Amino acid sequence: MHQAFVELLERNADHAETFDSRFDDVQDAQRPDAVTVCCSDSRVLQDHVWDNDRPGHIFTCGNIGNRVVQRTADGDVVSGDVLYPIAHTGTDLVVVMGHTGCGAVTATYDALTDGLSEPPGIEHCLDLLKPHLEAGVEALPEDLGRDEAINRLVEYNVDRQVQFLVASEQVTDDVTVVGVVYDFQDVYGGQRGEVHVINVDGERDVDRLRAAHPDVESRIRRRWEY
Ligand SMILES: [Zn+2]
Repeated sequence: MHQAFVELLERNADHAETFDSRFDDVQDAQRPDAVTVCCSDSRVLQDHVWDNDRPGHIFTCGNIGNRVVQRTADGDVVSGDVLYPIAHTGTDLVVVMGHTGCGAVTATYDALTDGLSEPPGIEHCLDLLKPHLEAGVEALPEDLGRDEAINRLVEYNVDRQVQFLVASEQVTDDVTVVGVVYDFQDVYGGQRGEVHVINVDGERDVDRLRAAHPDVESRIRRRWEY
């Protein structure tokens, strides 16, 4: 057996010992407080970000580029992964989480600027991101370094995903949609691992956000106000 898998199983035994008693209240049903949509990047530990070790608390979706959009024969719709807890478990909070140095955003940026291509499966994912990021790439100031350009596009991507949810009829007005960026590179000047709020229900103006949400005022911060 692959040694990494052997080690994973060993860790799972520890996990089972710790979690054995934590499923009593959620064994037969779930009512998660939030659904989070995060990039699959191995450096972003989706439950750990929120210090969550409680089964049933957070419904976690992961894909490259933290996309909320699915392409169907009838056009682009809210991804079933995100919609499921909204439609079926009474969840009324969605958190879209991008992260600094995102590889999916970088690949999309490269595809849009240099026409680089990827294997078909990855290309499909990038094709879902491209139409949302195209205007952002065009709006980037010319004199930016590559890393800063990518990190601004990370915010732009979160904004577009939030906007897609807000505009969708499937996501009703009683659902709060929050966009955040997880920073493990100390780009925002906080602590690595800190989440910065950049968008609430489509509002992305920092001053207006802080005025509207004083309880999380200190956590609202953007790299790019466009
Ligand atoms: Zn990523």
